[in-house]
Amino acid sequence: MQRLADLLPALQTALRVALVVFVLAWIFGPYELRSAVPVWLAFLIALGLELNFFVGALARAPAPAPDRGPQAIDRERYGYVYWPYESDETPRDRDLWTPVRRLLVGLGVIGTLALVFWLVESRTGWDSLPVETRAEAQDRFSEEASRIAAKRVRIRCDESGEYVGAVQHADGVAAVGGDLAYLTPERCLDLYRLAFDGEARGSQTARALAVLAHEAWHLRGVRDEGTTECYALQSGVDLGRRLGLSEEAARQMMRQQLAENAGRSGAAAEYLVPPECRDGGSLDLAPASTRFP
Ligand SMILES: [Zn+2]
Repeated sequence: MQRLADLLPALQTALRVALVVFVLAWIFGPYELRSAVPVWLAFLIALGLELNFFVGALARAPAPAPDRGPQAIDRERYGYVYWPYESDETPRDRDLWTPVRRLLVGLGVIGTLALVFWLVESRTGWDSLPVETRAEAQDRFSEEASRIAAKRVRIRCDESGEYVGAVQHADGVAAVGGDLAYLTPERCLDLYRLAFDGEARGSQTARALAVLAHEAWHLRGVRDEGTTECYALQSGVDLGRRLGLSEEAARQMMRQQLAENAGRSGAAAEYLVPPECRDGGSLDLAPASTRFP
């Protein structure tokens, strides 16, 4: 059987590969990953494991041995002298360099990855937009939310991550009947791309529209999550159209969101739309129309 110490280099390599794969997936992969796991957690775990490997390797390093064995004069003076290395073991210098070298490589990988992450995020994320552009975009989102809320409300993009985001597992937050809602920077970026660059990104854009409309309905005074989502998916059609989609594309997106809503379960079941959320149902905002949403 192999000893753990012999497996250590392979373990450390696997850990580093896993970290690289995770961070790249986080940057370029689906939005779901971003919203589920904060990226700093991966860095923190990797750092903790590297330090743990290092401390473990130090503890297992061979003990320092005297630089000489018993000499003739010792034997003469003391007779038999116990010498642990006399039979089959030879004295070795305590090997400190290998664990230190491994730790440095590990820290190098983590540091490089953090730098790449920071560079990519600062050039492509919501934070990479000029302050004036962000202010202009938030004004636009506020204007759209005000239409849905039927009163003057404000939308802010939560750049600090203080109100919404990975830790809270939410894309937006609003006080029922209030006048201020926060969206995650990722959702703000999707809305910005649509409204200012005419760029639609499938379900990602659809979700961003639904989230903005959802928070606007909370501000209007609707508390129940399922009802709020039902209204949001209907308002999302007009919202998407005003932000630059064709009516058909906007409708298609909200129908897709409604279809996906049926798959919600567990903790997300609260957001399931009620059975009355259908054409002609009591939650149909346009009963005269046969289109839904
Ligand atoms: Zn809600």
